Amino acid sequence: MERLVYINGELLPKDKAVVSVFDHGLLYGDGIFEGIRVYNGTIFRLVEHTKRLFQSAASIRLNIGMTQDEINQAIQQTVEANGLADAYIRAIITRGNGNLGLNPNKCGQPQIIIIVDTVALYPPELYKSGLEAITAATVRNLPGALNPRIKSLNYLNNIMAKLEAIDAGVPESIMCNHLGFVAEASGENVFIVRDGAVYTPPVSAGILEGITRAEVMDICRRMGRTMLEADLSRHDLYIADECFLTGTAAEVIPVVKIDGRVLGAGRIGPITEEILTAFRQRTRG
Ligand code: PMP
Repeated sequence: MERLVYINGELLPKDKAVVSVFDHGLLYGDGIFEGIRVYNGTIFRLVEHTKRLFQSAASIRLNIGMTQDEINQAIQQTVEANGLADAYIRAIITRGNGNLGLNPNKCGQPQIIIIVDTVALYPPELYKSGLEAITAATVRNLPGALNPRIKSLNYLNNIMAKLEAIDAGVPESIMCNHLGFVAEASGENVFIVRDGAVYTPPVSAGILEGITRAEVMDICRRMGRTMLEADLSRHDLYIADECFLTGTAAEVIPVVKIDGRVLGAGRIGPITEEILTAFRQRTRG
């Protein structure tokens, strides 16, 4: 079945779904987005995702021109039109068509785009064996420059980190902030386990407040685990018993080696396994 893409209220075949070369999303990365999953025909945490979309919009002074309910409905409609029970949704709002100058006030209507497709970020084996990661030389964007809490269309910081992973021959890289504390992976949040307690960097470390991160923190607390937001150094990563990354596309993926240091027993740890199972239960249960 051909994919139908939502653009500004219309559902168009994907080769007809186009934006202008004068769109400030293309020219300047001036826009925002969300990645959302559909499991067994149900959109997972839709309201949380569109809430974050509107927060990103507010932060960059982008008027979406639709209410959150209207966006939710448009997403629902696009999912139904594509007939996929398991899918990945990409909702994108660009500043719209402007001229070659920076002034966003010269842009017309924002472009509202919703794409529904399949996703497979990592091969299934990696969820059993765990992946190897490096820490990146690339520093995570400073919150005072471009706050990582904004899920903006400018992902160059993340792409630089991803390139480092590719050069190192590993699937992921973890960025630190300007103070040397762990921030996040190129497109996922980071968790470690040590002596039975689970830790993740706080929002103040310069991260996206992941929806999966919130879900995993909730899972840990309900399991009765100590779950703390704390600044972590590279050293904390190296001496962790377990480590895993979380994200909408990645879900919960174990990390077993960082910068050549083998973590714990070098395979997926029991607490990661427990969290991964609980997460799958929540999404597919
Ligand atoms: N950090 C970054 C930089 C991301 O792009 C993402 C989403 N891919 C995440 C963390 C995870 O966020 P979520 O769980 O909401 O997908």
